Order: sequence, then structure tokens, then C-alpha cells
Amino acid sequence: MAGLFAGKVALVTGGGSGMGRATALAFAREGGHVMIADIHGEAAKETVQAIIDSGGEALSAQVDVSVAAEVAGLIATTITTWGSLDCAFNNAGINIEHGPLADCTEDEWDRVLAVNLKGVWLCMKYEIPQLATRGGAIVNNASIVGLAGSRNTPAYVASKHGIVGLTRAAALEYGRAGIRVNAVCPGAIKTQMYLDREGDDPENTARIASANALNRLGSPADVAEAVLWLCSEASAFVTGHCLVVDGGETA
Ligand code: NAD
Repeated sequence: MAGLFAGKVALVTGGGSGMGRATALAFAREGGHVMIADIHGEAAKETVQAIIDSGGEALSAQVDVSVAAEVAGLIATTITTWGSLDCAFNNAGINIEHGPLADCTEDEWDRVLAVNLKGVWLCMKYEIPQLATRGGAIVNNASIVGLAGSRNTPAYVASKHGIVGLTRAAALEYGRAGIRVNAVCPGAIKTQMYLDREGDDPENTARIASANALNRLGSPADVAEAVLWLCSEASAFVTGHCLVVDGGETA
């Protein structure tokens, strides 16, 4: 397949849904070979099928990004299958608490930090040695709540601030190895995670949309296009950057 990522190998975690699925489809549209990892194996397989149906090449793996051995196995399978890794979108995440800091349980705290922050660290830990063989690009999915606070989701906010810090640290450490490391910071994007938290009530949707300049929710494709740009040669001098994709909510 011709395209911006022809002959390149891209990894997407959380690729069974939302922004991960949209980004996997976008990489495939641009000719990339895509490894799709998700804790929900069936969902990842559906993304693979959609790519194959449109003439692309993809493979899926059922992986919990918070488990080192599973992430190591994912990277090994990617290399065995296609021989290299060129870009990665570390996107898998959860948002499960619904109250202020003192109400957050230890289990909630541990799970959110394990998936969102340790998961991104583990992915980079195993991706970087592969990317170092010929350079490449990593994009981590943070959030606008990785740049400013938000109420009633303290572990999530902490994990996303952590991703921003880790992204900057990795960019400084691996620039000389030809690896660029950036993050996207989405605002309100209509995905399953958003619906689980906010529901689909039109009045509430209008209220949330009105918080940004464009007066609409973002789509998974809005974020996918930003990720592809950060992985492409068009952004060759951009690293350690957190690209806000929020319709102007934080402007
Ligand atoms: P989503 O729920 O549609 O997708 C998340 C995917 O991650 C799911 O397929 C899920 O199965 C997978 N996943 C969850 N835990 C996992 C684990 N341990 N290992 C592997 N896969 C796992 O939600 P989304 O909105 O597309 O979320 C993607 C990312 O975007 C998340 O990191 C989220 O925090 C971030 N984000 C979302 C919004 C929003 O408004 N939706 C805003 C900012 C940032």
C-alpha cells in the first residue's frame, strides 16, 4: 500500500477502541503495518479485520500494558512479524474513579497508575531498544488534565501529569539515538471512555462542547491525525512536545 507510512511498522496500544482504533486505521490507510494491542483481545481483532477489509496489513495481541512480560512479548512478536519497529502510539488508558482525592480507594489508585503511567513506561522501555536500531517516533496519549488539574479523578490526573513528565525525560534521553518522543493531550473526545463518564445526554454533551472554542466534542480521528503528524517526517524537529488537541478548551 502506498502512503506516508508505506513499509513502516507502527504499534498502537488500546487499539481496540476509540482513539487507538482510529489511529491504527489511519496508519494502515497510509500504508503502515500495524500491531494492535489491547487488553480486550476481541476488540483488537475487530480493528485488525477492519484494516484487512480495506486492503491493509495488521496483527493483534491481547496484552495488559501494566504487565512487563506481556509488553516484552508484544514487542518481540512485532519484530518477529515485520522485522522492525518505526513508531508507537502508547495510548491504552483507563479512568475509573469518580470522586475527590480522599474518596479514591487504594485499588483504584494502584490500577489507574499501573495502566496509565507504568503502562506507558513499560511500553517505552521495550520499544526504545528496537527504535534505536534505525530511529523512530513515539507518541504517548496524555490529556489536557496532564497539563492542568481537574476535579474528581485524582489518580487519572496524576497519571496523565506523569506521562507528560516521562515523555519529556525520554525525549531528552533518546534524541541522540534518533528517537523523538512526544505526547498528545486531547480534550473531550467522544469515545467509550468519555461515554462511560459523561453519558450521551444531549444537554450534558452541549455543555461539555461549549467549553471549547469550536463548540463540539473531538472525534477519535481528530487525535489520530495529530498522532500521525507527530510520527511522520513532517515533524522531524519536534520532540519532548505535548500537542494539545482540545478544540481550544485550554486556550
Ligand atoms: P476507549 O475506552 O475507547 O479506549 C481505551 C482502550 O484501551 C480500550 O480498547 C481498552 O480495552 C484499552 N485498555 C484499557 N486498559 C488496558 C490495558 N491494561 N492494557 C491494554 N489495553 C487496555 O478510550 P479512549 O478515549 O480512546 O482512550 C484512549 C486514551 O486517551 C486513554 O489513555 C485516555 O486516558 C486518553 N484520553 C481520553 C480522552 C477522552 O475524552 N476520551 C481525553 C484525553 C485523553
